[in-house]
Amino acid sequence: MTPESNNRLLSLPHKHSVDQTNDKATKDNDNLDHLFDLDDKDITKAYSTSTRLIRHMGYSPLETKPSKAFMNREFSFTLLGDTYIRFQSFKTLDEFKQELTRLRPVKIDLGAIYNIRPRDKNSVRASFFTPISKELVFDIDMTDYDDIRTCCSGGDVCVKCWEFMTVAMKIIHAALTGRRGIHCWIADERARQLNNEQRKAIVSYLEVVKGGAQQGKKVKLPNILHPSLSRSLDIIHQHFPNIAFETQDIFVAPENWAKVLEAIPDDAIRERIRGQWDDAPTRSPSQKWRDLLDIIGEAIAETPKRKLALESIPRDIMFQYTYPRLDEKVSTNINHLLKSPFCVHPKTGRVCVPIAIETCEEFDPKSPPTVPDLIKELNEYDAKNPSTSGRGKLQDWQKTSLRKYVEIFEQFVDGIINDIRGEKRAENSRSLDF
Ligand SMILES: [Zn+2]
Repeated sequence: MTPESNNRLLSLPHKHSVDQTNDKATKDNDNLDHLFDLDDKDITKAYSTSTRLIRHMGYSPLETKPSKAFMNREFSFTLLGDTYIRFQSFKTLDEFKQELTRLRPVKIDLGAIYNIRPRDKNSVRASFFTPISKELVFDIDMTDYDDIRTCCSGGDVCVKCWEFMTVAMKIIHAALTGRRGIHCWIADERARQLNNEQRKAIVSYLEVVKGGAQQGKKVKLPNILHPSLSRSLDIIHQHFPNIAFETQDIFVAPENWAKVLEAIPDDAIRERIRGQWDDAPTRSPSQKWRDLLDIIGEAIAETPKRKLALESIPRDIMFQYTYPRLDEKVSTNINHLLKSPFCVHPKTGRVCVPIAIETCEEFDPKSPPTVPDLIKELNEYDAKNPSTSGRGKLQDWQKTSLRKYVEIFEQFVDGIINDIRGEKRAENSRSLDF
């Protein structure tokens, strides 16, 4: 590995590095098969790590000198063949790179920052080894949307259903008056130091939609919303028409609109709406939604004292069809491992990239590069720009489409580091006041 190629972060498997007798693991990594065709030179080129990860994982302003937070951070490696190595930790950047090159993990996960170096955990009593901090993370799984999406199912995702993720990112960001966050990582210092109980409290505050296919009405909300949920509702209003009427077509096929009807808790109202839709099944989706609103409006006119309860019916349907489904376990346990940014996704083969909240709406889930894409881009760049050396020379990652994602990541880390500096300055000036 040349020193110049060290500045990208990728996790790649290697054909010969580990025993492949475990069928299950091989199957899980099916879509990484194409990587095994790369020759060693390409592997070495692609398989490089980043000082940026180091910097990020320790929130250290210095690029090369790892902070204590980095040295006490748990790294876990999944090797080909499903060998899983937990509680790795590194004192220096070089040590980290050497281990990556030696072990060639298929996947890198990040754990918590502990009170001592995770590697030394067996040298102390088990009760002494404690996690101190970790990012607050929200994991949103596309499969949890299978009851409402009509375009894809399972692990598949397209531009249409990606809108659910856009809504999720916006809602979480707005609800936590989210300072800076990528990919639903809330990483400012306050968030990182939350204990499990506090994490649980935040998740239950955000949890609005319960899963479960049998349950018709999945939304449990009071008639009058908490201000934070009103902010969510504003975001939902922006996206519901497109999701419901255009991309997911929930009012076109009777089996899909039947699910909408199931979410209506009032029998009389539900049957009136069903009658209207059955009589005119080809009415446009927005007309059908209008029918629903009109019939509820008539019911309110008939019994004004039920106004609040009835008004919440369309509102709750909109929540059900757009609000993020959260995987509670990931958020509430400080010990839970997180997939490292810039790993290669085992199913799609694409690099897992960070997304900035400001531009999340433009993101296309099929746009991040695969490893063969990156190698092609690198080779094309080098062919077009023969050996520029010295100062003007670009790092390998700067020659590829990964560049913009690394820059998003850098801005994110810089923001957090600036926060920490600002707080320190404020603290210092406070102590000077005495
Ligand atoms: Zn889709």
